[in-house]
Amino acid sequence: MSNVETHPSELICESTSGVAAVEVLEPRDVPLGGPRAMTVRRTLPQRSRSLIGAWCFADHYGPDDVSVSGGMDVAPHPHTGLQTASWLFSGEIEHRDSLGVHAMVRPGELNLMTAGHGICHSEVSTPDTTVLHGVQLWIALPDAHRDAPRDFQHHVPEVAALDGATARVFLGTVAGHTSPVRTFTPLLGAELVLEPGARLALDVDPAFEHGVLVDIGAVDLDGTALAHGTLGYVGLGATTLHLTNTTDSPARVVLLGGEPLGEDLVMWWNFVGRTHDEIAAYRDQWQQQSDRFGQVTGYPGHHLPAPPLPMGRLRPRGNPPPA
Ligand code: MN
Repeated sequence: MSNVETHPSELICESTSGVAAVEVLEPRDVPLGGPRAMTVRRTLPQRSRSLIGAWCFADHYGPDDVSVSGGMDVAPHPHTGLQTASWLFSGEIEHRDSLGVHAMVRPGELNLMTAGHGICHSEVSTPDTTVLHGVQLWIALPDAHRDAPRDFQHHVPEVAALDGATARVFLGTVAGHTSPVRTFTPLLGAELVLEPGARLALDVDPAFEHGVLVDIGAVDLDGTALAHGTLGYVGLGATTLHLTNTTDSPARVVLLGGEPLGEDLVMWWNFVGRTHDEIAAYRDQWQQQSDRFGQVTGYPGHHLPAPPLPMGRLRPRGNPPPA
């Protein structure tokens, strides 16, 4: 979806190496605004941590009764320098983009859109959707590939049986199960459902940092309790993640991971760039409906105008030094 905040804050995201202890990132509520009034819980980026691998943005929403929330209706809006990973637990979203793709986002099915040099897209929950529930994740592209051409990949992972859990691996490799979807940096992404009381020991790559976002229930990650909606972060060097469902119902989490990007980013609105001037140019080009972004066909309405740039230049915001 789009970052449709009226006054999105400026962020420069620095890639840092992790620390050994689990860091608990609390979500903040962000109203998306627009004709429908969905609120999402954002865990990335935040002041204390901007990136997990190349994952640079994590919005978690629902379960929302769309007869109350109005569902999702995000008009055509641009992206640069990133990929969007859409993953639903419930509901259905109609996606249209300037690559000419018209696709549905459905539960258990990954839609990975590469913005690269520039793309625009719209996202609308379908009339049959009664409950909307999912995550919207962004992946920053490394400098060498951030001007890549537009692309769209769709993948339906098998439901893999683990000991006391199931996994849907949509990116990378988890527990020996590998997604065929191409990424520009080493990454992983998976939905895990843990049986009540299940204790899962997942072997992981010590060159990755990891995050566990709790969607349903509560879990313990390496000795740290994670409540619903929180994102637990584990830094570099871990070889096993110990995940326990501490409730008497199934728990569902999204596991993210990747090698540290190792590059500083400027993120503003729906753009990922490297400098203030670059972001300002993207904004101007969108306002002028430049060919950089192309056109969405079939969306019944106007495109989303960019908000004004903040006063002053987009400045670095560093991560804190390792504890
Ligand atoms: Mn979007």
